[in-house]
Amino acid sequence: MKIKLVDQRLNSLRAEIPPLDWSGELLSDQLKRPLHDLRISVTDRCNFRCNYCMPKEVFNKDYNYLPHGDLLSFEEITRLAKVFVSLGVRKIRLTGGEPLLRKNLEILVAQLSKITTPDGDKLDLTLTTNGSLLSKKALLLKDAGLNRITVSLDGLDDAVFKSMNDVDFPVHDVLDGIAAAQSAGMDVKVNMVVKRQTNTNQIIPMAEHFRASGITLRFIEYMDVGVTNGWRMDEVVPSSDVLALIRSNYPLVPLTASAFGETAQRWGYADSFGNWDRSLGEIGLISSVTQAFCSTCTRARLSTEGKLYLCLFASLGFDLRELIRNDCASDRQIASSIAHIWENRVDRYSQLRTNMSGDEGKTAKRVEMSYIGG
Ligand code: SAM
Ligand code: SF4
Ligand code: SF4
Repeated sequence: MKIKLVDQRLNSLRAEIPPLDWSGELLSDQLKRPLHDLRISVTDRCNFRCNYCMPKEVFNKDYNYLPHGDLLSFEEITRLAKVFVSLGVRKIRLTGGEPLLRKNLEILVAQLSKITTPDGDKLDLTLTTNGSLLSKKALLLKDAGLNRITVSLDGLDDAVFKSMNDVDFPVHDVLDGIAAAQSAGMDVKVNMVVKRQTNTNQIIPMAEHFRASGITLRFIEYMDVGVTNGWRMDEVVPSSDVLALIRSNYPLVPLTASAFGETAQRWGYADSFGNWDRSLGEIGLISSVTQAFCSTCTRARLSTEGKLYLCLFASLGFDLRELIRNDCASDRQIASSIAHIWENRVDRYSQLRTNMSGDEGKTAKRVEMSYIGG
């Protein structure tokens, strides 16, 4: 059963400018988590209707997408991104909706890729896409400074994939996009959401396809984001089951996390001596439901129209666009406001979900993934 959308976008919190300026020290929230990553949603529109994200029944011709004037402009996004970097952000991910639907996105990529950290280092800039427009855009994005990209792909079988994207989009075109990104010289990752009785039969074919391809495949547990997808716990395939299935086909060895706050547990394909064979590559398991990683969550999210969300499951965001457009705040004032918001952060939804009974969490009000960005 799908649940009707309560439009949480209409509500927001004022982003106050605190009387005292931010001191310049690195930020830490109430659970001692630094601010390190920023996900920026550049559009709430998408050309797919993945049933776990934008079910057709809700996101139909009557759905009110944000009017263009409400979206942050590229200049506003870049300005906010610079402020976030001054506060400790080192990694930025562009997302959506489908980010490649935003016209001239490469112009934004070019602006963001020029931002440097206070130590003069480059940012870790990446983008998540459904891959449908990637064949056309890969070279433009690479030339604009995008070196890393994540493509979402939930199966290799056309019938399975088409039933998941729900717009009859063929697998082949996404694979062409992935190939285009690789030949443009980008580092490519592939994300697969696993949903019981939908695409579990694609786990092994996907592992086989991307093994030794130079591409890391990551399996994501189906999450209870938003309220429209009718999420049920019994449709979640625990990462431990995915791991067991792959291990019954290929030997794997655990790898250490490459960064604090990394969401994926990494496993490398092993050689006949039981050592990681780098030429075969690795897989990742993102266990957002069965093994909450809130204690190391360093991610802030900026919605399409400039609201700051502190958690994927939050119901309210802080209106930063208001600070820029109406309050004419200076960069320093915006930094103080964000610092104040982050230092009061207590969000840890997935950890709390672990203590909820059954499907209890799905009655909560919260924004949709396509609006806040995955
Ligand atoms: N449209 C782009 C795409 O699909 O890659 C970017 C936005 S999408 C919201 C970002 C990521 O969220 C995708 O990898 C998608 O598979 C994932 N996602 C969406 N809904 C999800 C859910 N209910 N559970 C787990 N992952 C989900
Ligand atoms: Fe679109 Fe991405 Fe959501 Fe699928 S997961 S509907 S491609 S935004
Ligand atoms: Fe971070 Fe919220 Fe996800 Fe926990 S539930 S990992 S706090 S986004």
